[in-house]
Amino acid sequence: MKYNSCNIITSSAYEPDTSILIIYTGGTLGMVHNEDGALIPFDFSSILDHIPSLRKLQLNLTVMSFEEPIDSSNVNPQHWKLMARMIYDHYANFDGFVVLHGTDTMAFSASALSFMLENLDKPIVFTGAQLPITSSRSDARENLITALEIASAKENGKPVAPEVSIYFDSLLLRGNRSKKVESIHFDAFESENYPSLAEAGVEISFNKKYINTSVKGPLTLHSMLDTSVAVLKIFPGITEEYVDAVIAIPGLRGIVMETFGSGNAPTYNWFLEKIQGAVDKGIVILNITQCLGGRVDQGRYETSKDLESIGVIGGADLTLEAAISKLMMVLAEEQNMAQIASRMTNSICGELSSN
Ligand code: ASP
Repeated sequence: MKYNSCNIITSSAYEPDTSILIIYTGGTLGMVHNEDGALIPFDFSSILDHIPSLRKLQLNLTVMSFEEPIDSSNVNPQHWKLMARMIYDHYANFDGFVVLHGTDTMAFSASALSFMLENLDKPIVFTGAQLPITSSRSDARENLITALEIASAKENGKPVAPEVSIYFDSLLLRGNRSKKVESIHFDAFESENYPSLAEAGVEISFNKKYINTSVKGPLTLHSMLDTSVAVLKIFPGITEEYVDAVIAIPGLRGIVMETFGSGNAPTYNWFLEKIQGAVDKGIVILNITQCLGGRVDQGRYETSKDLESIGVIGGADLTLEAAISKLMMVLAEEQNMAQIASRMTNSICGELSSN
């Protein structure tokens, strides 16, 4: 998997002192209609033809593109590694990063990068669009320009929002708290359990008290991910065969179990025995809720008490996107169950609230 080398666009006549790296991965934002009417990626080096106002930003912009831009439905952990590596390798040369990405899996990629790039002290802003940049009513222009303004915003020489975030339709959200919630309207993302980091109106108003600016050391790249994970979504009528099939996946090491409400699941004997059997086999089971907001609180109801005693890990208010990508990283780095549980239940970069 490769990316194209730098393609430099200097957007001002004189040398600006802020440099931003734009990483174009694909997605609707950079697509055009082909002769058959299907959306295909366009050559991003022509971005200035589509958004001439980029020239007005006092920024030094560099664009790097995936060799083959993709619809984000095709993004996998290898692409997360590529994005993380592109940022890590060029970290010292830029003040901030804007990742152009399809909306479908943007929250997964933003979550993954937040874990893979530990001790981040520069902004990485993901954005995309619901309509291609070539469409007259496209949201691409505003999303891209504001994302660039956010990635370059500084106060007293320091970046204002040094987090992995998602900017979309006037809201800046913490990446590992975000979810795609809308496929038609422009307000595609939500962060139900954490306040927005900024709102863009006439001015961009940052909610500074919610932005994480503390770093404990130099930037560290975590590039190992273990994909031996599965999602077990609980639903009324779930069958023994279904649960068996998931648990029997060869080499499986972790399950993100999406339960009801505050972490509740059926209390049928067969169900609890199978979950117990999986835990006894050494499979890590992380309990998160299907609700958009709120959190898992194992033991609050009778229907979650047994999960706690079996050894299912309570995933608090982790989103599915954060849970699955964090589990991949933690499983790749740890073998010991207690260590895995401790890392999964302690926040790395604001992805979960402790109570
Ligand atoms: N299918 C597209 C993608 O995620 C949708 C989008 O870009 O918004 O790549």
